[in-house]
Amino acid sequence: KSGKWEIHPDELILSEEVGSGQFGSVWRGFWHERQVAVKTVRKGFMSEEEFKEEAHIMMKLSHPKLVQLFGVVTQRSPLYLVFEFMENGCLTDFLRGKKGCFSPDDLLTMCMDISDGMVYLESSNFIHRDLAARNCLVSQDSVVKISDFGMTRFVLDDQYTCSHGSKFPVRWSSPEVIRFGKYSSKSDVWSFGVIMWEVYSEGRTPYDNRSNAEVVEDLNQGKRLPKPRLCPQNVHQLMEWSWKEKPEDRPSFAQLLHQLDCLE
Ligand code: ADP
Repeated sequence: KSGKWEIHPDELILSEEVGSGQFGSVWRGFWHERQVAVKTVRKGFMSEEEFKEEAHIMMKLSHPKLVQLFGVVTQRSPLYLVFEFMENGCLTDFLRGKKGCFSPDDLLTMCMDISDGMVYLESSNFIHRDLAARNCLVSQDSVVKISDFGMTRFVLDDQYTCSHGSKFPVRWSSPEVIRFGKYSSKSDVWSFGVIMWEVYSEGRTPYDNRSNAEVVEDLNQGKRLPKPRLCPQNVHQLMEWSWKEKPEDRPSFAQLLHQLDCLE
């Protein structure tokens, strides 16, 4: 009955807790000699049935710039999600921790890694829905990969999923997502623009002196994030393109990757 994405709990060794997030705690561990990250899902936080139905689709998504999902333990609660282990943790912390040490080329390469992974998701017609630097992870050799794709669809906490909720990622969301919950690859592009801003700000929080309500007000008035000091003009132009009011006026990820490629 269990699919081939099902991992038996006895195959897993949990070593130590490495973090905790919205979903629950994250452990470093081993699965058949391979180092893995095991995400334990807090009880009642996620629609487990819906996730189980989707897990096989998410496992088929495989790309060097996506954090690979290896399998799931579903036969007990809490649910375990078993991922590729990323030594350097989340991108936000990585940027803050090494602030001042990045070359212009390092920062551009991070943006290219993420857009490379997003070109793949876009062409797979898979919408991320929660793209942000905190949902990107950094490998041992400093490659940035995208994590948590599509996961918000299974979150039951409406503070997180409703655009007026206290945990809703307003700072990364496009106007049509905030207003109508209309997600698309183009709303992912908007969020990617904010990630580029986070990268060139070395991990600053977007609009850090504004409340969520004030951010929405600013967006309604057509205001956008300012160019970070380290950001070249031509990268800032790509941010502004990603933050066009109308989704159809924004670039695709294929276009963004091409443009970033030309800057290198
Ligand atoms: P959030 O709810 O903020 O998205 P997560 O639950 O995804 O947070 O992860 C919490 C923390 O656990 C991350 O900030 C990171 O430090 C660590 N972590 C998550 N996934 C992995 C992974 N695949 N490899 C290594 N560390 C990870």
